[in-house]
Amino acid sequence: MRRKLAAGNWKMNGTGAALAEVTALAAAHPAPAVDLLLCPPATLVERMARAADGTAIAVGGQDCHAAAAGAHTGDISAAMLRDAGASHVILGHSERRTDHAETDAIVRAKTEAALAGGLIAVVCVGETEAQRDAGQTLGVVGSQLTGSLPEGVTGATVVVAYEPVWAIGTGRVPTLAQIAEVHDFLRAELVARFGEAGQGVRLLYGGSVKPDNAADIFATSNVDGALVGGASLKAADFSAIITAL
Ligand code: PGA
Repeated sequence: MRRKLAAGNWKMNGTGAALAEVTALAAAHPAPAVDLLLCPPATLVERMARAADGTAIAVGGQDCHAAAAGAHTGDISAAMLRDAGASHVILGHSERRTDHAETDAIVRAKTEAALAGGLIAVVCVGETEAQRDAGQTLGVVGSQLTGSLPEGVTGATVVVAYEPVWAIGTGRVPTLAQIAEVHDFLRAELVARFGEAGQGVRLLYGGSVKPDNAADIFATSNVDGALVGGASLKAADFSAIITAL
């Protein structure tokens, strides 16, 4: 019922030369059984969208402003991302929450702007290591989910990514039981709030997903795909993860 999604987050990596990876990835997956998404830095969105045109790869931004336009130096709007060829945008990534002090309320406002601008929002939640150690994981991700999502969410408009902060870029991953616990909880929360529509929202796991752990993670309850950072930069690595889905 939920089509799987392999999403790559290039973060602040990549210049024009990296677009060769997109061409290689597209060639390796002409008709994938899962949805493919790559989110490059803003400077590459338009060129990547052009490189991915006619392929199975969708392109997304890594952030957008909550406002439609105006005096916000350095920011970009949802409409600008759409205009550049993006169909998706990552919002509330833990690096944005930390580096730019993004609160749940800010992430929610950005999500509303993304949806109004015709983008699919990939909204991220996840606990820190201290929060997990204190037994607060479900409370933290639950309140992030509640606070970051606007009303009227559907599977066609929103994807949720569970990314434990301590697993991002560290090579450490939760146990499959820990992933299942959080994903089952997030599913129940989505259904409690959005009813049947909550069943359609894809739940991605993110944090040190690699070719060698992807298959086990993808076989875990309520895992509908992955949000992949480091291993999405090289077509060969990301391709192996896609195949594992
Ligand atoms: P990682 O990053 O795969 O490099 O751990 C994941 C993310 O932050 O989206």
